[in-house]
Amino acid sequence: MIFENKNRNTRIVKVGNVLIGGENPITIQSMTNTKTSDVEATVSQILRLEAAGCEIIRVAVPDEESALSIRKIKDRIHIPLVADIHFDHRLALAAMSSGADKIRINPGNMGGREKLSEIVSLARERGVPIRVGVNAGSLEKDLLEKYGHPTPEALAESCLRNAALLEELDFSNIVLSMKSSDVVTTIEAYRIAAEACDYPLHLGVTEAGTLISGVIKSSLGIGTLLYMGIGDTIRVSLTCDPVEEVISGAHILRDLGIRKTGIEIVSCPTCGRCCVGLERLALEVENAIRGMETKNYIKLAIMGCGVNGPGEAREADLGIAGGVGEFLLFKKGQILTKVKEADVLEALMTELKKLI
Ligand code: SF4
Repeated sequence: MIFENKNRNTRIVKVGNVLIGGENPITIQSMTNTKTSDVEATVSQILRLEAAGCEIIRVAVPDEESALSIRKIKDRIHIPLVADIHFDHRLALAAMSSGADKIRINPGNMGGREKLSEIVSLARERGVPIRVGVNAGSLEKDLLEKYGHPTPEALAESCLRNAALLEELDFSNIVLSMKSSDVVTTIEAYRIAAEACDYPLHLGVTEAGTLISGVIKSSLGIGTLLYMGIGDTIRVSLTCDPVEEVISGAHILRDLGIRKTGIEIVSCPTCGRCCVGLERLALEVENAIRGMETKNYIKLAIMGCGVNGPGEAREADLGIAGGVGEFLLFKKGQILTKVKEADVLEALMTELKKLI
């Protein structure tokens, strides 16, 4: 099967108690948008992200106070924490001393080989992996001159060159990312890097935008790469509540058939045949299942009429097909009962809870 990273045998990197790469499941990451020094706000956001299914969390470390807060944050959360650092190697050292499970840096902007070597020594001592994260918005000048603009080749070269700085220091506990806000550039850059090395890859389309445009860009970029068998951990970047990033990441994995867990809703677009308030109902169901925990995979079909409704509803674990002001309720392929439109949400939720 093309999924599950089977076509790329990467090294394995350990981030806290989570393994990235090799045959390990593809993990969902997110990043907080609170001030990391505000421990209360950051912990509260991370706990919400954990509940939504986040498996690795990254926090920005722009100052010493943020680095020192990592220890207090880690005491109260349950997933590995990654410290995101730019320019100042002392922050990388402080973040690791404070308990960061992984750091994300650009080795080329840490102030030279000596400072990078201090980072590498501590990372080695503590078993902390380093993500080499390059971004189209901050590509090195010489590569911009060589390629004219942030092309896929430029991004991949930058990333591999930064990784080489760590390899020169005999460090290979590395994850790579090379993000662009352009979907095709992102896909091509990762494809080049995937062929050139065996490091695990952290996938993402950066600065993807607000909910709709960001989800579309991320689904295309991350989804295409995963379909090609490339990628070991993912982060959907959205300009909104990061909980939406986690939900979107879970959707991508589920819709590609990589991870069959959670509740999938199938609903029809409605047309002139529909005689029930299906759009409102589909949104109500979506809201009602938010945060519902289920280890198994459940498919819910919400259909407007008798044309495609019974077929889809029968194929789902639970489904409804609209009539005139009422629905037929299906469970595991069989008609269970007929329900009035006003009662259908409650009936659906009651049956869903039994399945969970
Ligand atoms: Fe139209 Fe019925 Fe198909 Fe929904 S299931 S789109 S209402 S024909």
